[in-house]
Amino acid sequence: MSETTMEKIVSLCKRRGFIFPSSEIYGGLASTWDYGPLGAELKRNLKESWWKSVVHQREDMEGLDAAILMHPHTWKASGHLEGFTDALVDCKNCKKRFRADHLPGEGSKKKCPECKSVIDLDETPPRLFNLMLKTYLGPVEDESAVTYMRPETAQGIFVNFVNVLNSRHRKLPFGIAQIGKSFRNEITPGNFTFRTREFEQMEIEYFVKPEDAASWYERWVQERFQWYESLGINKEKLRLRPHGSDELAHYAKACTDIEYLFPFGWSELEGIANRGDFDLKQHAQVSGKDLTYFDQAQNRRYLPYVIEPSGGVDRAALAFLVDAYREEEVNEATRVVLGLNKELAPFKVAVLPLLKKKPEIVEIAKKICSGLQKKFVVKYDDTAAIGKLYRRQDEIGTLYCVTVDVQSLEDNKVTVRDRDTMQQERIEINLLEKYLTDKLV
Ligand code: ATP
Repeated sequence: MSETTMEKIVSLCKRRGFIFPSSEIYGGLASTWDYGPLGAELKRNLKESWWKSVVHQREDMEGLDAAILMHPHTWKASGHLEGFTDALVDCKNCKKRFRADHLPGEGSKKKCPECKSVIDLDETPPRLFNLMLKTYLGPVEDESAVTYMRPETAQGIFVNFVNVLNSRHRKLPFGIAQIGKSFRNEITPGNFTFRTREFEQMEIEYFVKPEDAASWYERWVQERFQWYESLGINKEKLRLRPHGSDELAHYAKACTDIEYLFPFGWSELEGIANRGDFDLKQHAQVSGKDLTYFDQAQNRRYLPYVIEPSGGVDRAALAFLVDAYREEEVNEATRVVLGLNKELAPFKVAVLPLLKKKPEIVEIAKKICSGLQKKFVVKYDDTAAIGKLYRRQDEIGTLYCVTVDVQSLEDNKVTVRDRDTMQQERIEINLLEKYLTDKLV
């Protein structure tokens, strides 16, 4: 089998409308991407699957949609104002800026990755650079108006812990889930949509009794791993990587990353951390509000511990795209297939008229299409010959192609073609919806 490269993925994404460079007509904006018609569907499906599995199909979870802009004290409490920094060095020669820990070279003598001149860290010491994007709220751009674009969605959950606890009459353990945009002024974005400055996160804060935190942490690591597996990702390319004690944030008790083997190497899709009571304690301190939980059974008050599974929508989408991509030799031609799982595939069914010159065929095809659209995401396409239409649908992962031909006018049957096997079956039009429902639901 030929190798899946990032070039092939980027090209397919552009060609078929998954992902475009952002503001492309102006030359684009570095490491910023727009999801096209297919990408928007894929991301929706991913988020819906996540929400279903962590909110709708559980008794112990609630959903939330907090604002991107938060009170600046949030970031003081969370530690982002002080600690969310990278050490950066400027190259005096080419004026480019790099992360100090990414520079090649020995001791204090480093080499500029760009112009190859020597960067002497004794002469130009690294400076800390905060990764939060700053903005001003209101008409006056002074210090009192400074606000930040959230660098993670998690803090919106912590500040609402008591609101959700009380409004939903919750008892521990329970969790809050949220999907939303986050922003980080990453110094070295790249690898397509893997690391960008604007991205979407799917985060859970799961509140537990302190003594139960270790076992809930293990459970969440397993559950999150299984979610990726359940959507059909190749198990050999998915692994758990527990953090060493030198890697852990000072407050974290444990952390494990779920990693995928991208063409550019093993890289993080999601992190699951046991954060102790760090976040609630910090917010209680800075806000002066009581964020403790009263445990009636034990007749005691305490700050719950928190397990945080935190994943990226864009990284998951990229992993599933890479994982689904395959090339097959069919009749001495290359067939590109996106073998996306049925839950993730942007379009489930395509309806194709074999002869668009025949109005009766087009009429039946359009009728079938609008009937099926009440149940599935279905697209009609007559813009090319059938062979080409099949290839196009294969490349975007459409699971079934329904073809209406001359014979359909006589026998009221259509041909249904399976994306993966390319097997074709004749199905009666009035049984088509049931046939597809059995396959897709
Ligand atoms: P990394 O080490 O790759 O910078 P991180 O450990 O800082 O990631 P977290 O702060 O744990 O990431 O964020 C949780 C998740 O959010 C990550 O697992 C990832 O899926 C996603 N994420 C974080 N930063 C980015 C980014 N710049 N672009 C896209 N997704 C991101």
